[in-house]
Amino acid sequence: MAQSHEIDVLVIGSGPTGLTAANLLADSGLQVALIEKNPGSGDEPRAISATDETLRVMSHLGIMGQLGPEMLMDTGARYFGLGGKVIADVRPGNPRLGQPGKSQFDQPIMEGLLYEAATVRQNLHLHYNTAATKIEQHADHVIVHATGTGEATTGFNGAKTGDSGQDPYAQAAGQETALEFKAKWVLACDGGKSFTRRELGIGLQGSTQTERWIVVDLLDVPGNPEPFASFHCNGQRPAVVVPGAGGRRRYEFMLFDHEDGEQMSAPESIATLISDFQDTEVVTIRRAAVYTAHQRIAERYREGRVLLAGDAAHLMPPFAGQGLNAGIRDAAAISWRLAAVINSEATEALIDDYEAERRPHAAQMVKLSKRIGAVVMNTNPIITRIRDAVVIGTRIIPRLNRWLTGMRFLKQPHYTTGTVVPPLAGVPHLAQDFAGRMLPQPAVNANGATTMLDDLLSAGWNTIEVAAGHQLVFTNQEGDTVTATDTSRVFDAATGTVLLVRPDYYVAGIAPANERAQLLKQLSSKATVLATFGVAKQNTHG
Ligand SMILES: Cc1cc2nc3c(=O)[nH]c(=O)nc-3n(C[C@H](O)[C@H](O)[C@H](O)COP(=O)(O)OP(=O)(O)OC[C@H]3O[C@@H](n4cnc5c(N)ncnc54)[C@H](O)[C@@H]3O)c2cc1C
Repeated sequence: MAQSHEIDVLVIGSGPTGLTAANLLADSGLQVALIEKNPGSGDEPRAISATDETLRVMSHLGIMGQLGPEMLMDTGARYFGLGGKVIADVRPGNPRLGQPGKSQFDQPIMEGLLYEAATVRQNLHLHYNTAATKIEQHADHVIVHATGTGEATTGFNGAKTGDSGQDPYAQAAGQETALEFKAKWVLACDGGKSFTRRELGIGLQGSTQTERWIVVDLLDVPGNPEPFASFHCNGQRPAVVVPGAGGRRRYEFMLFDHEDGEQMSAPESIATLISDFQDTEVVTIRRAAVYTAHQRIAERYREGRVLLAGDAAHLMPPFAGQGLNAGIRDAAAISWRLAAVINSEATEALIDDYEAERRPHAAQMVKLSKRIGAVVMNTNPIITRIRDAVVIGTRIIPRLNRWLTGMRFLKQPHYTTGTVVPPLAGVPHLAQDFAGRMLPQPAVNANGATTMLDDLLSAGWNTIEVAAGHQLVFTNQEGDTVTATDTSRVFDAATGTVLLVRPDYYVAGIAPANERAQLLKQLSSKATVLATFGVAKQNTHG
């Protein structure tokens, strides 16, 4: 007889996507279970670049205080061409979300902190050493069968276990237990080899890179880290060097067809590879792994009541540093929608909007990562010479140069379909650009104190009126009207309008300030909660 659990949402996989989603879902009051086949959070050398959007979500979950000191904040990237010549120096321009546009972090540390956050959320039940084995769809629920191995466990922090020298992937031995999870919805965050995706028969579109890379993580690197990642597009052995906080540093080298992955991972081969960049005597090799990247996207993100997120839905080479960041976007985009539908505050149309918004942007990021890879990995002497000349040539065209050096090729989502409405008539031209994008997060002055905007907004939907004198007027969590001064003037273009802001901080719509009711009405057929929300807010604002 299987041990059974009944919850609102089952999350499969405790990578960064699953842990983020599980925490967010629990924060919206749902009963959530997370199952993971490994015994704890991950300790593999993977993501190291985080976007401002990811850090905003981490801040929302309350872990930035611990994550921040472990990060190298506000970094850029420097591209070196043939002969080691700098061909481009890039840095995200003008970040508006309250965090630097690009920063370096350590994936196991982020996962460990997300795991610790999960352990203190009472309505989030963790089941490690537990693998999903079968999925049964029903009209109003899903049954996921799973196998637990060894003692029932709530898992451990893989980053800490890794530091202690233990093998975090040592599989539990012992008796197998059959488990059964009955959930209203299932969120599959089970990674690139997703069991769920295969079980549901969802195909992957795209290809696999032919090149293999070796990734080497070092500890105890002396000196101050340089504030940029270096891409050595040298036409011989392409390499990437990424600094980190606390003496951490990542090296990645392309391998050639004739090179054996195992031999190249041996300490003496690694020492030879990094000796061009680094005094190898003084550092510690934390780990090395050979990987082949995929550039693929799931045909669809939903089957019945099961949804895909993170690497289960899209796989991309690491050159644009977008894989994990896309997964965190997915987690933030789906969590509030599931909560709204389960709490009868929205129709299922909102769930379909998840794919409508997220899949096209993920597909763009897959394509971009592939293109950057092609630029970095090229070893053809003629093509690399032309490449360098073209990149250097952009310096004489200011607009193109800004596009390149400001990393504008790394487009943040701008949703035009999904849970968004076009700007209502009368919205000034420049203000229209707020719709469908993430809400800027300036520091604001309110009630005699300076604070970040997110700290004042209420959980859930918000309306923000942008009034003359850089004033933002909204209702806080306690139901009080707040008038805050936007110190950065980032909202100035929207003066005289009202913004409708979703629980994931995306602007669902914008209207002239006196059209608030009309704006809310536009979305209330999907997000039914807005019908009454509108009345409440109008009364509050008198
Ligand atoms: C070398 C390298 C560098 C990278 N650099 C970056 C970067 O700089 N920036 C960036 O954004 N991304 C980067 N990435 C990508 C990033 O690491 C991934 O996109 C990210 O880990 C995906 O997270 P996830 O939670 O979706 O999946 P995963 O981290 O793969 O987690 C999936 C989890 O599901 C579990 N699971 C699988 N099957 C089952 C089952 N049947 N039952 C229960 N559990 C199951 C797995 O054990 C795993 O823990 C890099 C990747 C690599 C390899």
